Amino acid sequence: MKTSGDVTIVGAGPVGLLLASELALQGMRTTVLERLTSQADTIKAGMLSGRSFQMLAMRGLGPAITAASEAEIARLAWYRRSTGHFAGLFKLDGLDLVMLSQQALERVLEARALELGVEIRRGVEVTDLDFGTDYVVGCDGGRSTVRKLAGIDFPGTGPSLTGYQAVVDLEGDLDRGWNYTPTGVYASGPMQGRIMMIEYSGPPATREVNREILEASLRRVSGRDVRITAVHTATVWTDNTRQAATYRKGNVLLAGDAAHVHSPFGGQGLNLGLQDALNLGWKLATGDSELIDTYTTERHPVAERVLRNTMAQVALSRPDPQSRELHSLFSDLLDLREVKSRISAMIQGTDIRYDTGCDHPLAGTFVPDLDLSDGKGTSIVLDGLEATVRPDGYISRIGP
Ligand SMILES: Cc1cc2nc3c(=O)[nH]c(=O)nc-3n(C[C@H](O)[C@H](O)[C@H](O)COP(=O)(O)OP(=O)(O)OC[C@H]3O[C@@H](n4cnc5c(N)ncnc54)[C@H](O)[C@@H]3O)c2cc1C
Repeated sequence: MKTSGDVTIVGAGPVGLLLASELALQGMRTTVLERLTSQADTIKAGMLSGRSFQMLAMRGLGPAITAASEAEIARLAWYRRSTGHFAGLFKLDGLDLVMLSQQALERVLEARALELGVEIRRGVEVTDLDFGTDYVVGCDGGRSTVRKLAGIDFPGTGPSLTGYQAVVDLEGDLDRGWNYTPTGVYASGPMQGRIMMIEYSGPPATREVNREILEASLRRVSGRDVRITAVHTATVWTDNTRQAATYRKGNVLLAGDAAHVHSPFGGQGLNLGLQDALNLGWKLATGDSELIDTYTTERHPVAERVLRNTMAQVALSRPDPQSRELHSLFSDLLDLREVKSRISAMIQGTDIRYDTGCDHPLAGTFVPDLDLSDGKGTSIVLDGLEATVRPDGYISRIGP
């Protein structure tokens, strides 16, 4: 596939779309290639972390995201307020999640990318890497073709469970919230008809999801006499947990699910990917190879920690009696303020601190509420000291 322009992004998911805007904002000619002819409507993420929202608001997207979220809350009777969970324990504190579907977010991101002059070519499946561009970025999801073509390893741990998420019409009663049963976990809500089931007896035999498969799983896990009469959208997922050995090989880079996959426990994947895009865009635009390499050094450990905490959440959620006791003990620990704030910050990514080579404790941390909609960094005064803020909102240097 030949394209012209400075950067070719493969995949118009949320990460590819945001990265495209970031690059266009820096003045780079950017083309996005997407194999689907229109947006996928399968249910995926349903919320954005407070930190991701702050970062997108920094680029001026706050009002559009808030409007999209409000419209969905009104239409779907979705929860208004949540700070997220750890292994189904809704005890976290900190920043509120912004409730909105991944599709609604993608529409906001696509509109911005087009506004900034990005070319999005749909119905184009990438099968080789013969590009006429300076850089190729694989934002093509967990089964990334770009990653495979570039020969980047994807080590990790194979799947041990089968999870389903769906919106259905249902006959029969389910308890709301997360429910632990002797055969797994099921959840109902936060909107009418949304169900989630987890069974810990290995990966699915097939990626197919239909009414019969969903109903059988729901009946097994809930132990209830329930019937699914219609399926509006459904997805099957696992806890396959893998991470690219490097996020850059020459002029090929990876971002989002192409660089890391894990179970959706704690709702962290989309946020990780969006923050990859915000870290990478301005660096790539400089063409400075050393700076571009800091994309891997800064973002690889962040995802590594998410992979580890999602594995811990899987272990805590298993239905065997020993794991139930561990879950109960962990629930008590989460009532301790220090534990609560540490786990909350970890799940929300608010404790990320990059090593920028400056010793000040605020160096490498994010500054909320700045307007960096022009994609440029800035200087601010903090505690009487001058701080240099990078285009992604993180402080690179602070001192007299
Ligand atoms: C059930 C479920 C629930 C989730 N819940 C949450 C949550 O609550 N919070 C959260 O933060 N995350 C959640 N996630 C994770 C989140 O959905 C993903 O992390 C996110 O979609 C990653 O975005 P992406 O742009 O990297 O990849 P994707 O969204 O997978 O987009 C990749 C794009 O690349 C395209 N593509 C692939 N191959 C090619 C090719 N060869 N050529 C051209 N185009 C190609 C695909 O068609 C697709 O459009 C959930 C995921 C699942 C499955």
